[in-house]
Amino acid sequence: MKVAKFGGTSLATAASIRQVFEIVTADPTRRLVVVSAPGKRDDDDTKVTDLLIALAKARLSGETGEAELAQVVERYAELARALGVGEEIVTEIEADLRERLSADTFYEEAFTDVLKAAGEDNCAKLVARFFCAQGIEVSYVDPGEAGMLLSDEPGHAQVLPEAYDRLSRLREREGTLVFPGFFGHTESGSVVTFPRGGSDITGAILAAATKAEVYEKWTDVDSVFAASPKMVANPQPVAELTYREMRELAYAGFSVLHGEALMPCYRAGVPVCIKNTNNPTAPGTRIVGQRDPVPGGVVGIAAAPGFCTLYVSKYLMNREVGFSRRLLQILEDERISYEHTPSGIDSISVIMRKQAFTPQSEAWVLDRVRLQCEVDEVAVERDLALVMVVGEGMRHTVGLAARACSALAEAGVNIEMINQGSSEVSMMFGVVEADCDAAVRALYGEFFGRPSLPVDSDVGVLADYRIG
Ligand code: ASP
Repeated sequence: MKVAKFGGTSLATAASIRQVFEIVTADPTRRLVVVSAPGKRDDDDTKVTDLLIALAKARLSGETGEAELAQVVERYAELARALGVGEEIVTEIEADLRERLSADTFYEEAFTDVLKAAGEDNCAKLVARFFCAQGIEVSYVDPGEAGMLLSDEPGHAQVLPEAYDRLSRLREREGTLVFPGFFGHTESGSVVTFPRGGSDITGAILAAATKAEVYEKWTDVDSVFAASPKMVANPQPVAELTYREMRELAYAGFSVLHGEALMPCYRAGVPVCIKNTNNPTAPGTRIVGQRDPVPGGVVGIAAAPGFCTLYVSKYLMNREVGFSRRLLQILEDERISYEHTPSGIDSISVIMRKQAFTPQSEAWVLDRVRLQCEVDEVAVERDLALVMVVGEGMRHTVGLAARACSALAEAGVNIEMINQGSSEVSMMFGVVEADCDAAVRALYGEFFGRPSLPVDSDVGVLADYRIG
């Protein structure tokens, strides 16, 4: 049995939903189909999830939300008309949304989750209705009834261990199953959602629970690429990655698969396959536990802006027992999570995400570090980007660090920090954000051949190269 998850762009129009039907029925083992909410039809469009968030906000600020509600209903009505499934489902969807709107608004996040979940839930009902009209045996699965049990953390829920056993019983059901992604239920029965983009997580949990042969993630790109197509024109496709490589690349911006979605498949040993709904015969990218080595040892170059460094130095730091603990305790007290801690004999840098280390917390942390750690120097540098060279083969290849450093030097990029994790799956370089694109291109050129600039390279591509 395969689990096939379709993202929002694969469900945005009637034509794409028809294509989903073709893909699902082309392989009888694609029995568990996970759907997102309908996504953007073009660049100026709004995802249904965002329309639902706007609807929740309207209601929470005391408005009726009728205009926002009409927009959501119209998205489904348009799909239902074009798919020829009749008006009845649209009436049902509107009734469902009105019922959700009458939920308790006291806990704003919990109320918003009830609305957000409607995007996937109604999409699954619509898709099941359409599949049924085509004459196949199909049923919609209610995540609450099937056992998608989640922690009570609205917007950031996590699966509870007992969910796996309950969900494993889905294997015994007959026909094709359409399961809405992104949400589940708490032990007390409330609806809660995963973080944004979380339908990938649903699919991964279901693939692990049912011990699927493969977890297919259907999206709108042919594969994972060796670098962001926004930084390098026509980057090489990657045929196979290990879970660890994907994890490292996802950390630094490769968002083709939700960061949290790898874990269930990794633990259960279920391979993941990234496929293109608009080009189903393309081989895609497989993510597996082990793979054959690639020549050169490097599979991808990733880069993410938005980091900062807290640099601390103190003469004879290496002799002081408990220094790092005291330093990190200050961050913990301020509830700041840190990412990396490269260190020297008498110095340590703590790398954090800028959004976690706000200017307010900075002032407070600096005062406490001076007072409680009696340091010689403490400084903060903002606007750092992390550039990662990733590949399992690194462990066995001599000279990769030298090649990476020379490539950066030739491109005139100053390396602010180097960190090679103990796993030796990646090498990480800290560079100023302004040098991020140049660094990626230099490294791509070194390991994959001379890159050309993407057409819109002047746009500035640091922030988001989400392709899921
Ligand atoms: N619809 C949700 C979102 O836009 C979840 C998903 O698409 O995976 O975040």
